[in-house]
Amino acid sequence: MFLPNPVQDLGDETLTDRKDADYAALAPAYHRVTLTDLDGSGTLTGAYARVKSSTGKAAVSVGGAFPAYHRDADQFEQVMGYHWVTTAQAYLQHLGFGSTLRPVNQRQIEVRIDQFGGDNSFFREDKANITLGKGGVDDAEDAEVIVHEYGHSVQDGQVPGFGTNLESGAIGEAFGDYLAVVVTSWAAGAPTAVPEACVADWDSVSYTSTVPHCLRRLDGTKHYPEDLRGEVHRDGEIWSRALWDIRTALGDTKASTLIVEAQFAFAPDTSFRDAAGDTVAAARRLYGNAAANAVTRAFQARGIL
Ligand SMILES: [Zn+2]
Repeated sequence: MFLPNPVQDLGDETLTDRKDADYAALAPAYHRVTLTDLDGSGTLTGAYARVKSSTGKAAVSVGGAFPAYHRDADQFEQVMGYHWVTTAQAYLQHLGFGSTLRPVNQRQIEVRIDQFGGDNSFFREDKANITLGKGGVDDAEDAEVIVHEYGHSVQDGQVPGFGTNLESGAIGEAFGDYLAVVVTSWAAGAPTAVPEACVADWDSVSYTSTVPHCLRRLDGTKHYPEDLRGEVHRDGEIWSRALWDIRTALGDTKASTLIVEAQFAFAPDTSFRDAAGDTVAAARRLYGNAAANAVTRAFQARGIL
């Protein structure tokens, strides 16, 4: 298991894919973890994830334990998919969703591994399940890619069909990036060895040449509306920076709780402005005026409020 990926874990930006090889420099990045919420069938099926692989080589446990797969085995990505979806749900429950707050996405998500040759993961049309692709570093070798995709599932669980236009779609990408960073920091520990705001440090070694390798960042300087480019991932960096500033101001637990709680009120085609208003309202409801003011300032700094 990678926690969350070799670049972030080892603080080494020189690592490369080497065609899915298992090479010596990666050895310290493998960790053993206890998988939770399994259904006891011996497959990667549990309360929050059900792994499906197209290759026919399914991970199977022996005597209650799965073998210590390495990245060159198809089963490695399957175990990663199961573990990180389940960990993301555990993070939401640790915030209180499902106990003091209403449940968020407490359903079994189908995680499809390596169904496609391209380096592109996506959330399928049915808006509940996740597909993780190959190409470059396999997407399921980077926990931040897995959790990003789970972020789409979370929003769909809160607002069925969420993300029907540019701004709501950008919010979807931004929340996925935010969730990827906060879940992996929670599970693997912060401070991180590489910039925490960098998303998918390992997946992105395949397609970025500058260091640090980042698919996107949470701490960019894009401003609304002049930095809009009409593409949900790029425009999402406006929204994700606001989320990042909320976390910096209020801390991980309060920030993530109010950010997720606010999403229940979003319309499927919400605008940045309306969603920011919902987020300020959630902050006020949960934590009072000082928190609401901090959230307002974060959106004002981006030009959204
Ligand atoms: Zn996405």
